[in-house]
Amino acid sequence: MINLLVVGTIAYDSIETPFGKVEDVLGGSALHFTNAASFFADVGIVATVGRDFDLAAIGFLSERSVDIKGISIDEGRTFRWEGRYGYDLNQAVTLKTELNVIEQFKPKVPDEYLGADFIFLANIDPELQSHVIDQLKRPATVVLDTMNFWIENKFSALIEVIKRVDMLVVNESELREITKEYSLVKGAKKIMELGPTCIVVKRGEYGVLMASQDELFLAPAYPLEEVFDPTGAGDTFAGGFMGYLANVGSVSQDTIKQAIVMGSVMASFNVEDFGINRIKRLEYNEIRERYKAFKKCLHFGDIEFR
Ligand code: AMP
Repeated sequence: MINLLVVGTIAYDSIETPFGKVEDVLGGSALHFTNAASFFADVGIVATVGRDFDLAAIGFLSERSVDIKGISIDEGRTFRWEGRYGYDLNQAVTLKTELNVIEQFKPKVPDEYLGADFIFLANIDPELQSHVIDQLKRPATVVLDTMNFWIENKFSALIEVIKRVDMLVVNESELREITKEYSLVKGAKKIMELGPTCIVVKRGEYGVLMASQDELFLAPAYPLEEVFDPTGAGDTFAGGFMGYLANVGSVSQDTIKQAIVMGSVMASFNVEDFGINRIKRLEYNEIRERYKAFKKCLHFGDIEFR
């Protein structure tokens, strides 16, 4: 049974980093998310692709209990994104966004997915994110992501959907752009005044900051030797984060912190290869090993004061 629903983009991405260049590789917020979340939860995915999309290329998801019947194949071309990174891999420069089939998309959540207790509204048009919330029939934990493209093009729709969700998961630059506050703590507080009770701020290689009504929590990113392509790291983080929450079935302060660590572990794999490749060939045991290495990096004995 589906316990985690994601709505977002499935894309063909063209990406350039200082370490290489790829064209029309599989990507999109919903796909990166699902690729990671499927290690922990039964995921149902709602997205649109065009007639040019090769469905066989995502066949591997079915072997990981992902239900893809919520993907509609529509007239037109699949969503495309083109981006470039310099040596500061924390900052993507968008060269081109082709909405294509997204422009006419009206996400329809299949009835079987409506029982999910965890919903991730991945990066997509905020009006479509609201349209998904309209279809929910029972209380669920709803988490939202977005991107500068929507902050700049659909700001009021974005604020409306933020008011309707439980948590916001965004990049630090996006939080600053939405709230017009430099301080992430102040920015998070401004968002909490709108409704969400927990804000998870992704800070690229500097890790994650979580702010809730009562707590602040920090997790570093795992220090890697090989970094090729950060595209999708945020969605992969969210996939590990929400997959963990859906698996445990709780949103206490402690499980949220554990989920942040799991999200960070998953994101650390994503950047080791282009597109979805690394997480596609990932094995569960590697997650366990990286988690152990991650935990070791964080451990220090109690400091002795004189
Ligand atoms: P991130 O995790 O933030 O690196 O997300 C990267 C993914 O977001 C890429 O695979 C893109 O296809 C997708 N993407 C880029 N721009 C947009 C947009 N405006 N709306 C939705 N998805 C997007």
